[in-house]
Amino acid sequence: MPAPVREAIESASKHYVNLNELHAAVGKKIAALLGCEAALVTAGAASALTMGTAACVAGKDPEKIKRLPDTTGMKNEVIIPKEHRNGYDHAVRNVGVRLIEVETAADVDRVAGERTAMMLYFNHHGPEGKIPVEEFAALAKKHGVPSLVDAAADIPPIENYSRFLKMGYDLAVFSGGKVLRGPQCSGMLLGRRDLIAAAAANNNPQTDAIGRTNKVGKEEIVGLWAALEHFLRQDPAALWKEWEGRCATIAASVSKFPGVKTEVFVPLINNAVPHLKVTWDGKALGLRPDEAVKGLRDGEPRIEIRATLPDGLEIGVWMLEAGEAEVVGRRLAEVLRK
Ligand SMILES: *Cc1c(COP(=O)(O)O)cnc(C)c1O
Repeated sequence: MPAPVREAIESASKHYVNLNELHAAVGKKIAALLGCEAALVTAGAASALTMGTAACVAGKDPEKIKRLPDTTGMKNEVIIPKEHRNGYDHAVRNVGVRLIEVETAADVDRVAGERTAMMLYFNHHGPEGKIPVEEFAALAKKHGVPSLVDAAADIPPIENYSRFLKMGYDLAVFSGGKVLRGPQCSGMLLGRRDLIAAAAANNNPQTDAIGRTNKVGKEEIVGLWAALEHFLRQDPAALWKEWEGRCATIAASVSKFPGVKTEVFVPLINNAVPHLKVTWDGKALGLRPDEAVKGLRDGEPRIEIRATLPDGLEIGVWMLEAGEAEVVGRRLAEVLRK
């Protein structure tokens, strides 16, 4: 976490607050910074998925809020493109809803009805499905159903904080602990004022509510706000250059090995920042990628990478501190040399 985030956390740790007031006040600040109607700080993006769903299912009805995850008699179906199913949808299912899988717009027209509580889109999986992100929002509007987009890791570009809401989504979910470098256990639910108010009614610190197990401390609430302010003050072009520079530093330290190739790449949708791909001829070097991963993990300092490829590794550099790209380069060279 950058210094301003740590300072905000330290400062918040010294004061008593009314948590509901702090949630409302910081929500207002975040909404103003991002140009959306309302915002709620959650215990991670996964928690924002839970709280957004609870808002769509129970609203602000005290009886329904108490009863979740028992959704008997409530709207309790969530429509999701079949290809978008992934581990994070467990955070939605926690609310006691059933996921109804669809493939096409015609499927949505067929299954949307009075049991439908919400329509859920995982932006990262958009290209794998048949319904583009804009069309899904329009379909939800057509059926009068709230829509939620999970874009947890889809910053940069910064415009994405408001892009999906402008597109017609009622709620959008982002992580506080990824590129924002806020508290790892923080996230944001952004969107429609009435739904954010309903999410807050289902959230901690309310006791008899599904969000009570997703507590956000005053330190994280303030820390996330500070992280967002800090992030928005950065020059995106300068950050990008910095990330590319770290890739170049690591690449330079392994370029002397025969047959080792490096390439900077940017993932298409999520974590869309410069990463480094390092590949080699395993036979010539006598080293398999999984052996290289083990070597990096078992050394000092231990290094974890983004992904293992059939012929190499992918290395993420955007969370490194100054001087750490050099360390990664040195360790990778050690492993390749062996
Ligand atoms: C990382 C991620 C999450 C979870 O984020 P946390 O802030 O760790 O809870 C949810 N959805 C997607 C698509 C993610 O990439």
